Amino acid sequence: MTARSFHPPVRTLMGPGPSDVNPRILEAMSRPTIGHLDPQFVAMMDEMKDLLRYAFQTDYELAMPVSAPGSAGMETCFVNLVEAGDKVVVCQNGVFGGRMKENVERCGATPVMVEDEWGKAVDLDKVNDTLKAHPDAKVLAFVHAETSTGAISDARSLARLAREHGCLSIADTVTSLGGSPLKVSEWGLDAVYSGTQKCLSCTPGLSPVTFSERAIATVKNRSSKVQSWFMDLNLVLGYWGSGAKRAYHHTAPVNALYGLHEALVILQEEGIENAWRRHQRNHQALRAGIEAMGLEFVVDEAQRLPQLNSVSIPEGVDDAAVRGRLLQEYGLEIGAGLGPMAGSIWRIGLMGYASNQKNVLLCLGALDAVLSDMKAPVESGVAVEAAMRLYAQLQ
Ligand SMILES: *Cc1c(COP(=O)(O)O)cnc(C)c1O
Repeated sequence: MTARSFHPPVRTLMGPGPSDVNPRILEAMSRPTIGHLDPQFVAMMDEMKDLLRYAFQTDYELAMPVSAPGSAGMETCFVNLVEAGDKVVVCQNGVFGGRMKENVERCGATPVMVEDEWGKAVDLDKVNDTLKAHPDAKVLAFVHAETSTGAISDARSLARLAREHGCLSIADTVTSLGGSPLKVSEWGLDAVYSGTQKCLSCTPGLSPVTFSERAIATVKNRSSKVQSWFMDLNLVLGYWGSGAKRAYHHTAPVNALYGLHEALVILQEEGIENAWRRHQRNHQALRAGIEAMGLEFVVDEAQRLPQLNSVSIPEGVDDAAVRGRLLQEYGLEIGAGLGPMAGSIWRIGLMGYASNQKNVLLCLGALDAVLSDMKAPVESGVAVEAAMRLYAQLQ
């Protein structure tokens, strides 16, 4: 067999991630590879830490990308902060809280679950009651933006509850970073991880993290070694930490880091508040079109993520057939439901570079055409106009 170069098709990525990558980032990634200890590379790393502090809105010293996807950022937080025998309160209102539970168990610790219905925010009263009932809990872990359902939880209040009860907080901000207001220092979050392929419009494969001083102190004062050599922050900080000396830990993904640097420069140029506003604005336009068609959102308005729109699939409509046609005929990817929501919802992402007027109108036009052609019970021919009207109002 003679394999040839792989040339992927051009798609519009409006699912739960990866989202469309800004071409500036792809161009940055194609620049010459240099050594990961090259002084110029090290200077770029230092600048990246500042840019990450801006993105996270944090003044914590530790802000760096883990050299692996969001799931590795999650694991980095758990393996460093949680030791065997610890108790961790885990909030679950979708897929990712379940993965946090897995992480706690694999650390040899005990998860105490606070469960909420999928599609709802984490219930603060339940968290408060659980923390009261478990005064020995060490960590409160939750997902800020649940990508599996499209619900946002109140990270500020959850961080406050954790502190009031003497716990550290671990927050998953994979989908919120760059898309929804997130103020790590002001809210007092302790260990926060994210991803590059959602609202930062970068390629998948890196996980920015930031840790508070008290989180670092906890890592330094562990009684047991971190069970993961690769993720042990005591070692990783020899490379990413401050100071002139950088010790080899692992070979940094040099070109991927050029990409993240560019993504963060783009975020700084736009201004983070403007990025948050843009996500809202495009969500409102998509919503106008979706509702004009007679389709319904899954999540209550007050808890809805602008960057991940969960829409109920109308009765009798074949989920996979619609998504298949969108991909084939329009080069458009939207997401399917996960777990108990599989087959009953679509997840339309408006993340990062993909959150723009052209994509909103493409998605509404394509959905309208496909659903109308399939004789689905929707209002035909009105979605695009409804969104256009909304954009005109928001001018
Ligand atoms: C995408 C996502 C992850 C996992 O990130 P990967 O890069 O796929 O490992 C974790 N949490 C949330 C909320 C996500 O949306």
